[in-house]
Amino acid sequence: MKILPVLASIALCCNVEAMAENPDSKFLNYPVYNGDDLELTVDNVGTRWRLWSPEAEEVELYVYPTGRNSSPEKTIKMTKAENGTWAASMPEKLYGKFYTFRIKQGGKWLKETPGVWAKAVGANGERAAIIDFSKTNPSGWENDKGPAIKHITDAIIYEMHHRDFSEHPSSGIANKGKFIALTEHGTTNPEGESTGIDHLKDLGVTHVHILPSYDYNSVDETNLQLNQYNWGYDPLNYNSPEGSYSTNPSDPTVRVREMKEMIKSLHDNGIGVIMDVVYNHTADNDDSNFSLTAPGYYYRHRPDGSYSDASGCGNETASERRQMGDFIVNSVKYWAKEYHIDGFRFDLMAIHDIETMNRVAEELKKINPNIFIYGEGWTAGDSPLPVEQRALKENVAKMPGVAVFSDDIRDAIKGHYSDAADRGFATGKKGLEETVKIGIVGATSHPQVDYKKGNNSKFPYAAAPTQIVNYVSCHDDLMLTDKLRKSMPEATDADRKRAARLAQTIVFTSQGTPFMFTGEEIFRDKKGVHNSYKSPDSINAIDWNLRHQNAEQYEYYRQLIKFRKAHPAFRMTTAEEVAKHIKFDKTEPGLISYTITDHANGDEFKDIKLIFNGSSSPRTVKVAKGNWTVIAEDGKLNADGLGQSKGGNLIVAPRSALILGRVK
Ligand code: CA
Repeated sequence: MKILPVLASIALCCNVEAMAENPDSKFLNYPVYNGDDLELTVDNVGTRWRLWSPEAEEVELYVYPTGRNSSPEKTIKMTKAENGTWAASMPEKLYGKFYTFRIKQGGKWLKETPGVWAKAVGANGERAAIIDFSKTNPSGWENDKGPAIKHITDAIIYEMHHRDFSEHPSSGIANKGKFIALTEHGTTNPEGESTGIDHLKDLGVTHVHILPSYDYNSVDETNLQLNQYNWGYDPLNYNSPEGSYSTNPSDPTVRVREMKEMIKSLHDNGIGVIMDVVYNHTADNDDSNFSLTAPGYYYRHRPDGSYSDASGCGNETASERRQMGDFIVNSVKYWAKEYHIDGFRFDLMAIHDIETMNRVAEELKKINPNIFIYGEGWTAGDSPLPVEQRALKENVAKMPGVAVFSDDIRDAIKGHYSDAADRGFATGKKGLEETVKIGIVGATSHPQVDYKKGNNSKFPYAAAPTQIVNYVSCHDDLMLTDKLRKSMPEATDADRKRAARLAQTIVFTSQGTPFMFTGEEIFRDKKGVHNSYKSPDSINAIDWNLRHQNAEQYEYYRQLIKFRKAHPAFRMTTAEEVAKHIKFDKTEPGLISYTITDHANGDEFKDIKLIFNGSSSPRTVKVAKGNWTVIAEDGKLNADGLGQSKGGNLIVAPRSALILGRVK
C-alpha cells in the first residue's frame, strides 16, 4: 500500500499509571470465542448464527431476499450465549437469502452490519449471503493444489493487479479486469505474442502475488461501467472475494466460483497464488464491521480514546487482543483451505505482534507445508504496541516462518524510494556497494559484509535467507521504468533498459526470494505516477504492445528467471551455507564482485562468478583461469551460456553484469 515506511520509533506508554488509564485496558477482560461456527453455519439442522459481541445489550438479525434495496423478510432477536456471543437459528437451509446483524450498545442501536465473518456477500458487501459452498467449486477442485516447493527461496514472485494485467485493449483478453482473465489461454497482443496466463508461463514465474482480492470498499460494484480503479487497500469484508473482479457482483456465488476458477487455472499451469492481506486497518473507523459488532475492541487507541494510526489510514487493528489475533489466524486458514491459497503477503506487518505472526505461520504450515508468509516489516506511523512486540523487519529472527521485504537492496540498487532523482548502484551512484552486499547475502551474517556501512539496516537481521524477499520495485512508489526515467534524465531508454537488466540481475542472483512487479519484464511504465492507487486505466493498465517493442528486454528477464531456477546456488536456505559459499572480492566504488563456491546447495557449477559494474565506464577484473561458461555479458544473458572464457583479465561493460560458471 502507498504509505511511507517509518523506521521503528519510540514505544509509547509503560508506566503503571498510564496503563491504568489506557482506554483499551477493559478489552483485556472480554471473553473470547474461537469456535469455527462464528456468524453462520448451514447444515442438516438448518441455519444458525452466532455473533461475538460481548458488550451488546440486544442483538437483532435480519433476513433479506436480496443483497440490497429490500426489506427484511424476518427479524430475529438473538439470545445471549457463551463467551460473549449471541445466537439464533432457523430450521431451514436458507440458501439464496442474505442477512445482517444490528447491535444495541450503550443504549443506542448501531447500523446494520454483515458481521466480520461473511464468507459471501451481495453487491458492495452490504449484506452477508447464505450460499452453498459445495456448488462453488470448479471441476477437479478436490485434487487442486499449488506447486510443491521446498523453500520460499525456490519461488519467483510476480506481483500483479487483476485490472492492470488484462484491462488494456492490447491484452486480447475477453474478461478484462476479472478474476477469470487468468483462465483464458491463447490470448495475444496484436503482434501475436502471448498475453495473460500464457505470458506468465512463458516468463517462468512460479507464483503470482495478487493485490488485495478480498472485498474492498472503494469500487462501486453496482456501477462497474464507471471503470473505477483501486489497488484495494481499503478492506471491507475480509473473508469474501471482491465483487468488481467477478462477472456479476450481485450474485454472491459468482465471485467465489470465479476466484476459485482463477486459482485452479494458475495451479493447473504450475503457478501458485499469493494473496495480499491487509488486516492492519479497515476502510472505515466507527462504521467498519469490526466497530459495528464489538465497538472499540478490534482497534488500538490513544490515551485520549481516539484511534491510533500506525497504518496512516485512520486506524490500526489490535492483533495482540485474542479475538483479533484469532480473527487473523482463522481468516488466513480459511483462505488456505477454501481457496487453496499458497502464500500470504502481510501489508504493514509490523502493526501486528510477533506472537500472532508466529501463530499464522505455524497454523498455515499445518494445512500446507509449502505455504509461505512474508510482509512489510514496518509501520507507517507510531503505534501503542511496544517496538519489541512488533513484527518488524528488525525482529524477523524471532519469526522463523516469516519473511520480510528487503528495503536495503531495493533502495541501494535503484536509489531511495522517496527521492525520484536519487540514483542507486545500478545507475552509477557510488558508496552503496556494502548495502547491495547486504542484499546479496539475504541480510544474514557474513564475515565480509560490514553492516555498519549499511544504509538502512545496521545488523544482519535475518536468521536465514529464507526470511528475505529481494526486489527493486513493486506497486508502491515509482516503478522501475519511471524511477529510471526520473533519475537518469540525460539517458536514452536503451541505457535505462540496460540499468533495469543490471538491477534485476542483482535481485535474481541474490540469496533470498526474488520478487518483481508486473510489466517490468516489458519495460512498462505508469507515466511517472508514484502513487497510482486510484489512477485510471490509462496509467495502470499494461500496454501489451510493449511486449513486442521491448522483446529483447523480455527475453533477458525470461533467461534470468530460467538461470535462477536452474541453479540452487542462488537459493541457499541457511546463513551458514551463505557465509561458507559466498566469497567477495575487494569491493571498489561502482563494482561488486563475488564467487559462489564449491557446488553451493548442490549446484552443478563448482563456481559461479558474478561481477556487477554499476558505473558508466568499462572495468577490468581478474577472474581465475579455468574453463568458464559465460552466462551474462554486456547486457545479454543466456541461461545455457553465451560462449566460453578462459578467465584472466576480463572487461565488464558499463552498467552490466558479467556472470560465469564452471563445472570444475
Ligand atoms: Ca467491494
